[in-house]
Amino acid sequence: MSELNPHHAVYVGSFDPLTLGHLDIIRRGAGLFDKLTVGIGLNPEKNPLLTPEERESMCRQVLAPLQNVEVKCFAGLTVNFVRECGAAVMLRGVRTLTDIELEFTMTLANRALDPAIETVFLMASEKYSHISSSLIKQIASLGRGNTAEQLKSFLPREIIAPLLAKYPDRQPQ
Ligand code: ADP
Repeated sequence: MSELNPHHAVYVGSFDPLTLGHLDIIRRGAGLFDKLTVGIGLNPEKNPLLTPEERESMCRQVLAPLQNVEVKCFAGLTVNFVRECGAAVMLRGVRTLTDIELEFTMTLANRALDPAIETVFLMASEKYSHISSSLIKQIASLGRGNTAEQLKSFLPREIIAPLLAKYPDRQPQ
């Protein structure tokens, strides 16, 4: 088996869309590890709003200034993707006690699948701990008035217009 790099971490998620909460974890992770790979999971069962290409291009655009961050799409088991990247660390973000419970189970399963991969958790920043991709999609689809302005507290600016464009039937501002 090839050697895994303990200074390389992989942060996976659906990023449907990438939020300021994700971005905060990515920035902090990029400061802790030599290299950070952002892995966009392609799981059609999750019924994503954005296509893999849209999610990838949004992530690339927002993350371009971060020199040691790369963006990749993947399908299949996360531990297999982490190993393919050559990374020894899986990075996760936790917001709530519910997150911790779910992450704990997932970490144990991943450890059973590949004991060489260590999971590292970063606690959400207080400022972003209420943010989730599903909440953002609700605001984008149901919001009235200045939704674009309101989304500035949740989403990287570059993503606001393309996300709202996904809801052509919403009430005009
Ligand atoms: P999924 O739910 O498909 O795993 P997400 O893209 O929602 O994917 O989340 C990816 C990772 O980011 C998970 O570890 C999740 O707990 C974490 N995360 C999501 N939102 C936030 C946030 N606001 N702050 C910190 N971590 C977050």
